[in-house]
Amino acid sequence: MINIVIFGPPGAGKGTQSEKILEKFGLVHISTGDLFRANIKGETSLGLKAKSFMDKGELVPDSVTIDMLRDKVEENPKAQGFIFDGFPRTTPQADALDTLLKSLNTSISACLSLQVPEEELIARLLNRGKTSGRSDDADETVIKNRLAVYMRETSPLKEFYRSQNKLEEIHGVGTIDEIFGRLSDAVEKHA
Ligand code: ADP
Repeated sequence: MINIVIFGPPGAGKGTQSEKILEKFGLVHISTGDLFRANIKGETSLGLKAKSFMDKGELVPDSVTIDMLRDKVEENPKAQGFIFDGFPRTTPQADALDTLLKSLNTSISACLSLQVPEEELIARLLNRGKTSGRSDDADETVIKNRLAVYMRETSPLKEFYRSQNKLEEIHGVGTIDEIFGRLSDAVEKHA
């Protein structure tokens, strides 16, 4: 199995690049942000719980997020591998992911970390907010909070993967295909 974590701040291009990577390497895409949005749309109790956090740009609590992720992985017993997009975002989530994959006799192959300057991220998110219908992209205060939460809670995970020789830092500015080329090379190195 190839199991990839696609990592980076909000607006780094994780979703866009995940679509291209899963196509090339035959992976199942799990985006916790997409799963939460689908639950909000379907007005489930999980969606209701997640919405109040997402609207403020805060993280949804670990227990809720980890249970949802585990269910999704277990729904795909025949997967040749996964691409995790927007997960893990905290140390307990990273530990839970390792434990889950271990129980399936597999592990994370690589963490691909997209690096994009902050001004570029804010511009991309505000631009996406014009068409995505995502209220968390339309409000600059919420965007700044998401970036602050990323710096405080999520970016330390780079060390978690670096210490296991799994971290690949990828320059995330350029055309979609240029960035995809850099990511593909990194996946092949760890496949
Ligand atoms: P982006 O990376 O552009 O912020 P996502 O769709 O990945 O977009 O996430 C949107 C929101 O969903 C986050 O701001 C957060 O509130 C919630 N969320 C997504 N994934 C997680 C996670 N792994 N843990 C906690 N909250 C999450």
